[in-house]
Amino acid sequence: MYSNDTLKGRTALITGGGTGIGLEIATTYARLGANVMLVGRNQERVEAAAKAIVDEGGKAAAFKVDVRSYEEVKAAVETTVERFGTLDILVNNAAGNFVCPTAELSPNGWRTVIDIDLNGTFHGCHAAYAYLKASPHGGSIISIITMLGVTGWPGSAHASAAKGGILSLSRTLAVEWGGDNIRVNTISPGPIGDTEGVQRMYIDAGNGDLEARKTALGRFGRKQDIANAAVFLASDLGGYVTGENLIVDGGRWLKYVAA
Ligand code: NAP
Repeated sequence: MYSNDTLKGRTALITGGGTGIGLEIATTYARLGANVMLVGRNQERVEAAAKAIVDEGGKAAAFKVDVRSYEEVKAAVETTVERFGTLDILVNNAAGNFVCPTAELSPNGWRTVIDIDLNGTFHGCHAAYAYLKASPHGGSIISIITMLGVTGWPGSAHASAAKGGILSLSRTLAVEWGGDNIRVNTISPGPIGDTEGVQRMYIDAGNGDLEARKTALGRFGRKQDIANAAVFLASDLGGYVTGENLIVDGGRWLKYVAA
């Protein structure tokens, strides 16, 4: 759909790039000419994912990072620039979540999810800032959130608050860093049927059809739908788009509000 050089000469760092949506974004970016750095806590997994991209002709590397550590994120950013020469695109995709009623949620459980999702995103943005500012293409930050961070998410107050915080942070940075030619956007996926989470939570639990019908389109999305949106926002095609939350949810949130 996009031409093969849409992201040629650009370098992207993708947190949580070893699995799911992050890996799909990394693979798609590499197919469109970008160098990609995949980071996550499981070193074997990010290395295997990077190798698969290299095996199909892409340029990829991997680095072990826990996004809760600013020092580790900073080291990943610096290693990316040493390896590929620039950093043009940051995708904050890493996240953790578990379902738990708020009254039963421990402060430690709350902190863990806020730490990965919200603090991890801040760490990425802060560590990457100087390099994104220096990008000859203009920097692009894309953070993966969910509209449940806007509407509220009963049973996942921690993840909802973190995602809502990322939206707010992104809008702030879009204004603060716009003059540095850095665009800052979020993507809100709906239920993505070919991810492990949706498979486990909905499909395996026998609620697949019910959940799919909650979207206006009546079906789950695919990882590729999110990767396509992430290409648009990272490339010159989205060159005048900043502070935006691109909703790629098959009309799920609108159907929820309109019902
Ligand atoms: P996933 O496969 O579980 O991906 C999460 C990634 O984050 C993993 O690669 C994991 O790798 C990494 N990660 C977790 N904690 C980390 C940490 N402390 N430091 C570094 N990396 C960490 O999930 P997904 O379904 O693809 O979701 C990707 C993003 O889309 C998330 O932000 C999620 O909230 C969002 N989203 C997904 C859906 C959906 O339908 N799947 C819908 C809406 C939004 P390690 O375990 O190796 O660290």
